[in-house]
Amino acid sequence: MNQQTLILIKPDGLVKSLTGNILTRLSETKLEIIAAKVVQVSRELAAEHYRHMKDQPFFPELLDYLQGTLHNRRKVMALVYWGDSAIQRVRQLAGATNPEEAEPTSIRGSYGRITSKGVYENVIHTSGCEEDAEREIKLWFEPKEVIMDVYPTRQETVEKLVRTVWA
Ligand code: UDP
Ligand code: MG
Repeated sequence: MNQQTLILIKPDGLVKSLTGNILTRLSETKLEIIAAKVVQVSRELAAEHYRHMKDQPFFPELLDYLQGTLHNRRKVMALVYWGDSAIQRVRQLAGATNPEEAEPTSIRGSYGRITSKGVYENVIHTSGCEEDAEREIKLWFEPKEVIMDVYPTRQETVEKLVRTVWA
């Protein structure tokens, strides 16, 4: 069954110059990239993305991590991959959440680490199930940024919209 899944190359992945490597690993799946961008993550976006972790003692550090303040690299690469069993296949390639438990050849097993504050720096995020994928893709992308009609959309007329255009 075709599915879409959100992938984030987290700031540690970017700092460690793993982008090319990770995209190569993902390309082995033959899944299609249907959206991609570089994002400067606000506190609000980080908190919404990780809202299921809000009661964890390491929640503030987790937000610092996703925002890139820990790595002095304030950006994340966000992608949507689409294709047969995309969610499970990308999870498999990513490996377990805890990099020490992740299969050694998986992305997290190869490149992840646990910080002294106990946060798992595990290089990438990948959606865990279809429900999470829908919530996360809608959180990170607008409909026009995704080149396939993956979820229903509606038209909205916005009056007096101020937007930045190239000068
Ligand atoms: N995390 C952590 N310690 C934990 C559990 C999670 O630092 O004990 C971090 C880790 O970076 C993980 C993120 O919180 O990727 C989200 O956790 P989740 O359980 O959703 O794992 P994932 O879906 O990323 O495998
Ligand atoms: Mg998760």
